[in-house]
Amino acid sequence: MKKQAKKDKKVILILVDGMRSDAVEKCGHPFIEEVKKNSYFKMDAQTVMPSITLPCHMSLFHSVPPERHGTMTNIYVPQARPVKGIFDMLTDHGKTCASVYNWEELRDLGRPGSIQYSFFINEYRYPRTDEIVTEKAMEYVDNYSPDFLFVYLGVTDTKGHDYGWMSDEYMKSVYSAWNCIERMVDRWKEEYTFIITADHGGHGRNHGENILEDMTIPIIITDVEVSNGKMMEYQPSILDIAPTIAGLLRLKAETSWEGKDLLKAE
Ligand SMILES: [Zn+2]
Repeated sequence: MKKQAKKDKKVILILVDGMRSDAVEKCGHPFIEEVKKNSYFKMDAQTVMPSITLPCHMSLFHSVPPERHGTMTNIYVPQARPVKGIFDMLTDHGKTCASVYNWEELRDLGRPGSIQYSFFINEYRYPRTDEIVTEKAMEYVDNYSPDFLFVYLGVTDTKGHDYGWMSDEYMKSVYSAWNCIERMVDRWKEEYTFIITADHGGHGRNHGENILEDMTIPIIITDVEVSNGKMMEYQPSILDIAPTIAGLLRLKAETSWEGKDLLKAE
């Protein structure tokens, strides 16, 4: 199958914490079907074990499994044999990076000096934090137009823990996250390619196990020309996201990375 970005653009990665693929399918947000029409998407991509937030983010940004980056819990561990992350390698190539998020542990995804702008708001203390993060992202991109922006929306995961994955409250939060996604994609679809994904799923009121409900994540890449149908044999991994971002920005992936550029993988 051939896949090709329709034109060279900058990249925005939007991650909805704990968003299950079947929740994307079932939440009923009208924008999802619209996005899928012009996107490459896989709803059966897999994350890494342990399927919890910080290890999964470290694997996404560094394209290596947790055994290699060394962060096995939600407490960051400096890497013994450092692998460059997406923020670090983009900065080395003269690209500008920004990060907006509402879970403080994500401050360690890039080394000091690799992020030009970052905004953090405590997830629990303020209502509407996903919307606030979205507004900050929009303000920054309007003013500075970074080459790469990471947007983390954390409310969905907290609703999963509080009310249960796939509960009404959880599904409402997935719908709200898609309101944020729609605002950003609508505003910048000409300038940016969007990658929309999750770090892990969940079941009951938790996640972290090696079961499909926790391990399966969606990966949606907007504005990609896909010939020969939307399905392919290759099952993407969260490790493939960093090489895909590098490819979209016309850069070579780090040799230490283990994932594949999804727009080149057959
Ligand atoms: Zn969680």
